Amino acid sequence: MMLVAKETSWQRQLSDLITDPAELLSMLNLSPGDYPVPDDILATFPLKVPRAFVSRMRPGDPLDPLLRQVLPIMEEGDDTPGFTIDPLSEADFNPQAGILHKYQGRILVLAAPHCAIHCRYCFRRHFPYDENIPGRAHWEESLKWLADRPDIREVIYSGGDPLAANDRHLAWLTKRISEIPHIRRLRIHTRTPVVIPARVNESLLTWLNDCQLQKVMVVHINHAQEIDAEVAQALQKLRNANVTLLNQSVLLKGINDNVDALEALSESLSAAGVLPYYLHMLDRVQGVAHFNVSDDRAFALMDKLKARLPGFLVPSLVREEPGETSKTRLI
Ligand SMILES: *Cc1c(COP(=O)(O)O)cnc(C)c1O
Ligand code: SF4
Repeated sequence: MMLVAKETSWQRQLSDLITDPAELLSMLNLSPGDYPVPDDILATFPLKVPRAFVSRMRPGDPLDPLLRQVLPIMEEGDDTPGFTIDPLSEADFNPQAGILHKYQGRILVLAAPHCAIHCRYCFRRHFPYDENIPGRAHWEESLKWLADRPDIREVIYSGGDPLAANDRHLAWLTKRISEIPHIRRLRIHTRTPVVIPARVNESLLTWLNDCQLQKVMVVHINHAQEIDAEVAQALQKLRNANVTLLNQSVLLKGINDNVDALEALSESLSAAGVLPYYLHMLDRVQGVAHFNVSDDRAFALMDKLKARLPGFLVPSLVREEPGETSKTRLI
């Protein structure tokens, strides 16, 4: 008889994602018939959620803030004016396959084309990843491009989700980037340690420890309920590897658009050694309008939040505006 290991490897978990809405709903004691799913949207941006993330959802609650982040609903089919395919005009800032260069001194490297989870509010849900999956030869070209750009001091691994890539590739890329003298900082934007905490394993920690650049990881947590003991432990391991931990969230209607949820999120992050960085206004991408929180409501929430928390636990409310030289700080 085979024993089932309590901690399955992250790759196993990644190949065992829940992709069937009916299965997800049944696991939560919800009746699939009550929650119609838009089939055409499911075909282009499927449901994808790791079991470790589902285990933090409250059974029987269709409004659970974690469930709402991943369950496709009919409203995604709404065509709302102002919500477009590429609201950030990212296609204009793609100098090399796999690189986005928009802001001075730092570049985004699309280190992996996919994610461990599909967030329904995702601003890159329509991004042409297929044109942005470089092989080794392409990376060599990108590294050459980077070596010729002394103005760039920080490399940001993004995606998709960079930690959905394997460690062999990431260790190789990181070593090569570290060898470029003008690069000082490596930043990793990822949701994988949150949705599959087993991702923070020895091989990840080994290349992080080997990397002599200043290391920052921005995890993406939207609600305090996402942080359980296993996530907290994974975050602790990253801190032990000298990684500065920051968090960015998206302000999402029905998920975290109330002051109690935002306060609890900041407090839970703080307890896990993570500082709040950005609270993003939703990017106006097609299919996400039902998550939108108005500016006025966002400002009112921030005022209340500031009254409750020390300044260092209040994230900056930001919006990404195409054509600006940085994210726009609203508060
Ligand atoms: C958000 C973003 C960055 C990083 O911006 P910070 O304000 O430094 O966090 C860099 N490049 C692109 C293309 C971005 O969208
Ligand atoms: S992890 Fe990030 S890039 Fe991936 S689906 Fe979620 S929001 Fe989008």
